[in-house]
This record gives sequence, C-alpha cells and structure tokens, in this order.
Amino acid sequence: MDEHQEHRPVFRFAPSPNGYLHLGHALSALLNDQAARACEGRLLLRIEDIDPSRSRAELIAAIFEDLAWLDLAWETPVRRQSQHLHLYREKLDELRRQSLVYPCFCTRGAIAHAVAAEDMAWPRDPDGAALYPGTCRELAPKEAARRIATGEPHAWRLRMTEASAVAGALAWREHATALPDSAWRTVPAEPQAWGDVVLGRRDAPASYHLAVVTDDAAQGVTQVVRGQDLSTATAIHRLLQHLLRLPEPTYHHHRLVLDADGRKLSKSIASTSLRELRAAGLSPGDIRRRVELTA
Ligand code: GLU
Repeated sequence: MDEHQEHRPVFRFAPSPNGYLHLGHALSALLNDQAARACEGRLLLRIEDIDPSRSRAELIAAIFEDLAWLDLAWETPVRRQSQHLHLYREKLDELRRQSLVYPCFCTRGAIAHAVAAEDMAWPRDPDGAALYPGTCRELAPKEAARRIATGEPHAWRLRMTEASAVAGALAWREHATALPDSAWRTVPAEPQAWGDVVLGRRDAPASYHLAVVTDDAAQGVTQVVRGQDLSTATAIHRLLQHLLRLPEPTYHHHRLVLDADGRKLSKSIASTSLRELRAAGLSPGDIRRRVELTA
C-alpha cells in the first residue's frame, strides 16, 4: 500500500442480507459514496451475514444488483462476515481472558419470564428491550463449564459493570456530515444503558456489536457513516474498541428516511424496497430525489 493510499479516509456500507435494500439503505450507501468521492477516500462494502438463520444468498446477490443500479462502485473483494468467524472467536477469547464475558444459558422465553415475574417496571435498553436480569451472571464457573461440556446452547454476555469500570469515561467524535473535515462534537458514551449485552450468540460466534468493531478495525475503516438508529449502539462499540485495543473511527449518524406515517422504514415493508421502486419505473435519479439528496 503506498503512502497516499494509507492516508485516504476509508468508508464502508455494511448491509445485513436479511431483506431487500430500501430507501434508508440507499441514503446510507449514497452518503458514503458521495463523501468517499469528495475526499478521495475509499468505499468498502461489507456483507453483515453473521445471522445464519436470516441471511440468504439471493439477498446478497440482490444487494450487489441494487447498488450497481444506483451506480455505486466499491472495492473488491467484498468482506463477508460469515468468512471471518475465526476472527470473532479470537476477540471473544480475548474478552474471556480478561474475565469480562460469561456464558448465558437463558432462552429468550426464560428472560421474558424472569422480567415478567418482577413486580416493577423493568429497566429497558435504548432500543426498548428489557435489560438482561442477570440470571447467569453469578453462575459458579464449575457449573457453567459443566453445562457447556454437556453441549447446552449458550450465548456470551459482557460483564457491563466491570467492563465499563475498566474502560473509564469514553466518548466518540460525531461529525456534522459524512465528510471527515466537517465540524464535530464529542459525544459521551454510556454503554451501561445496555446492560450485559450479548457478544457471542447461541448460533454464531459473534453478535452484531462484536463483529462490527472487529471488521471496522480489520478493514481499516476511518469514517463510520450510518443511520441515526445506530447512534446509541456506538457506546457499546467504543467500549469494545477500548477493551480490544482497536483503533477508533469517527462517526456520522445520518437522518433516517421515514415512511408517510413518520416511522422508520423496515425491510418487511416491500413498498420502499429499491427493487420494487425500480420495477415501478423509478430511475436512480428518482431514488436520489426520494431520499432528498441532490448531488
Ligand atoms: N448491518 C447493519 C444494518 O444493516 C449496519 C451496521 C453498521 O453500519 O454499523 O443495519
């Protein structure tokens, strides 16, 4: 890699292939693309197919097709998370060695049950999900090891209180636009609001949080440009970057594209999928206008 290449800002668009791309993805991809072009940066595409139950090959093919239709160009080879599971395992091991994760044998149903049994308004994370009640946190290590040895399915959760204490005060740099030379402010990270998050899933060696920080570092990403809905999760990402001694990218969390009722777009609503809009005769220029991008 020459010196020029080394200092170029690195952007990425990182869709999960669990549905067709919609207008919200188009905005994200286009903002990354515009910014990369404007500052002679690099644009990477990453397929976040860590979820084996929801990722489908035809949806990956559709992502490439929709992005090419929008006239986006990205570097190859494209990174696919499913091809880097060993790396996530290593990162989880690193946290295990720091005694900052523990195995959790609870099913979703068991967690819902434990929360419902409490006679109080249960605290919720920034996404509105009930915080993990801590059922497996104090399991004796011997007992946990025995259950793992019997093949009982388990996730790995972060010991949030201990991890936050180790890290101390954290923050991230939030830019006003996708451009690296735009104004920025410091946002304090409050990962404790998420409780003991899952870092290793029952069915995959990483959760979104662990995979995203591992990959951003592995790919040398310097500018993370993604939707506002992921802004609060950045606190977890900063914490993991600190614990795993990974470099810290800067962030821009952009506005979301909302539906007519002011709700966030969802992959389950086909009417805003790029393929549906293309089939209805819209051009890439129309898509740019629909997401209120001019250039
Ligand atoms: N894969 C995530 C999604 O499709 C985005 C991850 C990120 O940009 O950090 O919502």
